[in-house]
Amino acid sequence: MSEFKLLINGDLVDGDMEMDVLNPATEETVATCARASEAQLESAIAAAKTAFPSWSATSIDDRKKAINAIADAIEANGEELARLLTQEQGKPLADATGEVFGTAAFFRYFTSLDLPVKVLDDSEGRRVEAHRKPLGVIGAIVPWNFPMILMAFKLPPALLAGNTVVLKPAPTTPLTSLKLGELIKDILPAGVVNIIADANDLGAPLTAHPDVRKISFTGSTATGAKVMAGAAGLLKRITLELGGNDAGIVLGDVNPKETAPKLFDSAFQNSGQVCIAMKRLYVHESIYDEMCDELATIADNAIIGDGLEQGTQLGPLQNKMQFEKVQELIKAAGEDGKIIAGGDVPDKPGYFIRPTIVRDVAEGSRIVDEEQFGPVLPVIKYADVDDAIDRANASEYGLGGSIWSADADKAYALADKMESGTVWVNKHAELDPAIPFGGAGMSGLGSELGEEGLEEFTQLKIINIAR
Ligand code: NAD
Repeated sequence: MSEFKLLINGDLVDGDMEMDVLNPATEETVATCARASEAQLESAIAAAKTAFPSWSATSIDDRKKAINAIADAIEANGEELARLLTQEQGKPLADATGEVFGTAAFFRYFTSLDLPVKVLDDSEGRRVEAHRKPLGVIGAIVPWNFPMILMAFKLPPALLAGNTVVLKPAPTTPLTSLKLGELIKDILPAGVVNIIADANDLGAPLTAHPDVRKISFTGSTATGAKVMAGAAGLLKRITLELGGNDAGIVLGDVNPKETAPKLFDSAFQNSGQVCIAMKRLYVHESIYDEMCDELATIADNAIIGDGLEQGTQLGPLQNKMQFEKVQELIKAAGEDGKIIAGGDVPDKPGYFIRPTIVRDVAEGSRIVDEEQFGPVLPVIKYADVDDAIDRANASEYGLGGSIWSADADKAYALADKMESGTVWVNKHAELDPAIPFGGAGMSGLGSELGEEGLEEFTQLKIINIAR
């Protein structure tokens, strides 16, 4: 039986089925892990429901102690988790290490928050209080690009608020989550957190289940829409963190040589498989050629390879489906524009694509209009910055965006015009557990992180007393 087991009602259990998890850098099996049946999903939800009354009745200080203990356990096993993360996800070990220790830090951040009763009115005629109550069983659904840190957007605030959880990682990256189950088994009372792995078949029944009060979902917009529909019948609470097509707008006053490495990192971190990666780059015509050349040079020099190998800067695509999709987009991009770096797939095992820069391309091309979620960046020329803002805003997505300029006031004024959940100035894709994060348009609904992210795991309840 596999060493990677489900966590259901405080027990590590074998799955009714098993599945192989592939290393995207080698296409070899990393491990065979437990795969839950629908009956096991039922047991996990039932365990979370049973655990809810006593967990929600604990003091917030006791819950903080448990959350800190989970952070301690993640740190104590950080090296092992990081290696496992690299093996299942593909990212370089240094990045995986950053993700694992960042996960512990996100858990700790939430222990700095409280949910105090707010007094809204305390006058002669009445006293009005606002309370934040837990919701019940939370379904937490996570994608494959950041299996650990995206879990940490959900688990600690859900637990802090007094909820119980059924966590479901993505089918191609379940190992670190199942390992987490092993680590937290003796920290939390039975049933408070249950972890199941599936083959893309249990997200829908988890979403539709009448005993699940909220779904906290991170993934694609198409699946997010299905979650919304699945939750509608019971008016379930939902938080949706979905796809993006973030634009970066570079003004003519920046130094291309100094700015290009920052732009490159914003687009190619995790081989572009980041919801808030820069996915379209608008560059002023006065520096367009120079910026394209700088980006192409960086792309040509990037070291791609197995994340466990020293020196690797970019790993493979995480799975075959995404690997094929990105190749298709690159092929179409080569027909619409000019590929000046990358574009090719090394002749070796693994889902590798060299970082690809496409120039002389514009809206109407798939690589500009769609979310590529891979290592390819279209660089688009513009003449008038207001026009660039309009084009950036024309996307159905609205997750993040950025303005790059030497003139702080000008950049700030332009940031105000960008229609997205976050706008960065002279940087892109910075996340902090204390800063709320969420998408506009088809990039999502609601926020995660910060106090707002915590409140999304609660029901607002007013008590209004006559005097
Ligand atoms: P996906 O939507 O295919 O899968 C996400 C999760 O949903 C997986 O765990 C999957 O098993 C589950 N799922 C599948 N069908 C379901 C259903 N019918 N109901 C409920 N759950 C179901 O996404 P993906 O391909 O794993 O991830 C890539 C996408 O995620 C990209 O679009 C990316 O931009 C987005 N993403 C968004 C954020 C954000 O915070 N906004 C963060 C990371 C990734």
